[in-house]
Amino acid sequence: MTFPIAMSSQPDIQQDQPAYRVERSSVHGNGVFARRDIAPGERIIEYAGREITWEEAQIRAEIQGGPHNHTFFFSLANGNVIDGGDHGNEARFINHSCEPNCEAIEEEDGRIFIYALHEIRRDEELSYSYPLIYEGRHTPAIKKAFACRCGAATCTGTMLAPKPRKRKPKVKPEPGLFADPVPALATVQSPQPAAAG
Ligand SMILES: [Zn+2]
Repeated sequence: MTFPIAMSSQPDIQQDQPAYRVERSSVHGNGVFARRDIAPGERIIEYAGREITWEEAQIRAEIQGGPHNHTFFFSLANGNVIDGGDHGNEARFINHSCEPNCEAIEEEDGRIFIYALHEIRRDEELSYSYPLIYEGRHTPAIKKAFACRCGAATCTGTMLAPKPRKRKPKVKPEPGLFADPVPALATVQSPQPAAAG
């Protein structure tokens, strides 16, 4: 039996089949699912894509008609971003969840990999939490576009990270939500408003 979504370009490593497959998700569009049981801490897939500058990412978002829920750029420690829509792979189909079973980690060399947070059973949907930074106005349309339907009991209802405030109030982060430093934030960037306008 063959899978239409099998993307391996190396047929000689069939005994080491990918731990995931892509199919329709009840959460949003396509999703990525465990093809077999996955061990805690297992490195599942690279978040592939072309590394581009932040400025280039803004241009690309503008060309695509502004931010929408397919435009996900991963920001890197060096200030660049990875565009999963450009030479990317199945990892770009991994959905957000407020109770994720995976996490994205930026390695020393600036590549991003998706790791299992805990044991994942075969056929479970893979997910990770990406607080989306959107610097434009959080209009109702934007909020709707980035509504979260992960179904977790702790679902916040949105994939958008709270907008940074000018004066930081003394608010402790909610435990478990962003308790760990997130090395690679998925970001959405709108074109900067013209200075004169
Ligand atoms: Zn949610």
